[in-house]
Amino acid sequence: MSQVDPRRLIPRTDELLALPATRAAVERVGVRVVRDLIRQTQDRARRGELAPDQVEPVVLDQLNAHRPTTLRPVLNATGVVIHTNLGRAPLSPAATEALLSAAGYVDVELDLATGSRSRRGVAARQALLSACPTAADALIVNNGAAALVLATTALAAGREVVISRGELIEIGAGFRLPDLIASTGARLREVGTTNRTHLRDYLDAIGPDTGCILKVHPSNFRVTGFTSGVSIGELRSAISEIPLVADLGSGLLTPDPALPDEPDATTALTEGADLVVASGDKLFGGPQAGLLLGAADLTGRLSKHPLARAVRVDKLTLAAIEATLSGGPTPVSRALHADPDRLQSRAERLAATVGGTVVPHDGRVGGGGAPGVPLPGWAVQLPEAAAEPLRTGEPAVLPRVHGGVCLVDLRCIPESDDVRLMVAVEHALAAIEGPESG
Ligand SMILES: *Cc1c(COP(=O)(O)O)cnc(C)c1O
Repeated sequence: MSQVDPRRLIPRTDELLALPATRAAVERVGVRVVRDLIRQTQDRARRGELAPDQVEPVVLDQLNAHRPTTLRPVLNATGVVIHTNLGRAPLSPAATEALLSAAGYVDVELDLATGSRSRRGVAARQALLSACPTAADALIVNNGAAALVLATTALAAGREVVISRGELIEIGAGFRLPDLIASTGARLREVGTTNRTHLRDYLDAIGPDTGCILKVHPSNFRVTGFTSGVSIGELRSAISEIPLVADLGSGLLTPDPALPDEPDATTALTEGADLVVASGDKLFGGPQAGLLLGAADLTGRLSKHPLARAVRVDKLTLAAIEATLSGGPTPVSRALHADPDRLQSRAERLAATVGGTVVPHDGRVGGGGAPGVPLPGWAVQLPEAAAEPLRTGEPAVLPRVHGGVCLVDLRCIPESDDVRLMVAVEHALAAIEGPESG
């Protein structure tokens, strides 16, 4: 009797593709992904790594586990609220839901009552103006950098942007404000020194060639000691005819008592700024965006500039901004204002279950906001070796590694994820304890 080559028992591609589960998977992830998975699994069986009757269940398992994006959700246990490497602000439930509603065809630029074209993103603009009534108008672009480029291009290309030497900052990952402004064709007119700039420095510099005055919030560092700067209010009282643009960076719309030194749009406009620039995904707590708020003649000039089209936001961003403003508290706001006692009792519960010690741990605003402002809280201290299995586990957890230990700070983790976090920490600790203690 001749022996059947087991490889001949491997199910054929067309057989596997005909299964109801694979047909459904084709709808979900596309035929290419499904074919690739089938071929890889058949190859494993041909190499003898898999029994032929295992091919079908393995293919189905893998299709089940397949996700449409390779981006992995991460539990942020660093205590850093705006973590640029983790995508800055997490969206609120309302904003997340808005993304789904806006995913298909939507009336982003259409008046359904008349059937004619409407102004793009009216609702998001209106929501911003309601949240910041001192602004006469608002314009939303792709990010803070794009907002600055648009403002300096429209107001000062071929002319001068007057700025204090104390505000020529680098924000991180290749964002150098002077280079960005120079790229727009505007000339930088630097005034003052690194630590001190006076009103007369500005007055000496402005003239017929001045396109705008730019005030930048040096968000990620602080100069202390013998320093002085000129406030928006002082500039406004002395200089009335030149546009005064304030780059606030983080994007609070109104003052937050928890962050007393953080500038906000309402105050900056009240003090006399004509236009403020802020990021959407820092303290505002929304999607990546650049928010421009202020005088309608200036937003009008900006929106008519050809560059405005190149930095235009999509419907998803507009939907998420509107929902960030109209929904409940954002995750960023919750994390910033987390009650330290509550953080301590959550940390104690975690430590009681998995081990580790509860230690005081200050969170940070991050993302270049409020440098040096500690957010008092607590963390569970684990051996440093736990960090790697935490990062690579499911769910992925990013702890803070500092001073030879691994710190798990619950500030930026929603309470509803505490059980998932507990399981992840248990797995990570089991992985480093080794087989003899398991
Ligand atoms: C973050 C920041 C920017 C850049 O904003 P993006 O939204 O990251 O492009 C510009 N200016 C200041 C002061 C900032 O803090």
